[in-house]
Amino acid sequence: MRIEKVEIFSVSIPLITPYKLSRVYGTVTGANAIVVAISTDTGLVGYGEADPMPPFTSDTVQGTIEALRDRLAPAMIGADPREHKKNEETMDACAEGCLMAKGALDMAMYDLAGKAYGVPVHALIGGRKRDTILLSFPLGSGTAREDFEVIDARYALGFRSFMAKMGRNPIADEIERVHALGDRYSGKIQIVADANQGWTEEQAVEFVRGAKGSIVGMLEQPVPANQFEALRRIRAASAIPISADESVVTAQDALRLACLDAVDILSIKASKNGGITKSLRVIAVAETAGMQCRMNSMIECGVTQAALLQLGAVTQTLIPSGHAYMSTLRLADDFTDFASLVHDGYAHVSDAPGLGVTVDSEKLVRHASEAFVVT
Ligand SMILES: [Mg+2]
Repeated sequence: MRIEKVEIFSVSIPLITPYKLSRVYGTVTGANAIVVAISTDTGLVGYGEADPMPPFTSDTVQGTIEALRDRLAPAMIGADPREHKKNEETMDACAEGCLMAKGALDMAMYDLAGKAYGVPVHALIGGRKRDTILLSFPLGSGTAREDFEVIDARYALGFRSFMAKMGRNPIADEIERVHALGDRYSGKIQIVADANQGWTEEQAVEFVRGAKGSIVGMLEQPVPANQFEALRRIRAASAIPISADESVVTAQDALRLACLDAVDILSIKASKNGGITKSLRVIAVAETAGMQCRMNSMIECGVTQAALLQLGAVTQTLIPSGHAYMSTLRLADDFTDFASLVHDGYAHVSDAPGLGVTVDSEKLVRHASEAFVVT
């Protein structure tokens, strides 16, 4: 099987409800995805997706398009998409960084490999370890009163895990918020908190001390991504497990965090971590070092979510709280059928070949503001 053509689509789809994040990120209004469709001499087509979101990621939309169009896709023409490690080497040799662009091609090549062998990707990367993964429903940055509305509505639909964004309000307010959530829902739901780099070390320590014994089961990325030593000290002061998200992009990051004993949990995102091949390396570090993994997402479309579900299916150490497979249900539309795998409070692992989703190519073209073809 040889790659003959790579199509690149720049896609924007709005969120149904804008998402209030931390002080650093402001409010997000939609998904800006770069989707690749790889055609082969067998007639099979594979799909991948990149989800640049500066300043969360150093990768930008324009930089990702240029890396794909000008360097990475041309290097993959003629390659066998089933040779994942060889293709990774080729991509790494022709562009430094650009993990999201490489990740889109890597996902598409895994999609093709699965379709060619007639098996789901999870059968190629270690085998299915679970059939379902507990979902976490997102709560924007705000007050307990705002949270009550969302939680009550979603609890009735089967959700038992919620992720509260923090980092834009005073620490005392956030502590009051989580205790108010505990008073109302203790024993009924789980809360994970994510400050998205919004705090100083002192603020983070103030939060973990104040929130001790509350309903919060995990705190993600309290301080800026490069502050590994601060993460270690926060973890040492905290009874609440600490997770790294923005801090863990590469397997080398994961290894450094593991060596420092800086965090309990690594947040895995299929696009952020550079596709399936590179995400598996990060997961392997976590599994080896005794860290847990949280399957997490950007605001992203169904191809990246499908890749994340394949990774979640095989990861040995998932946290017991919920995971982020809600992204496509929060968008006004999607060009895949991923949402059909998300119901009853769980994401359901599919046995369909490849990434396990069907792409509506007409819809993809309709949502694209720009498109490029590399042959
Ligand atoms: Mg996060």
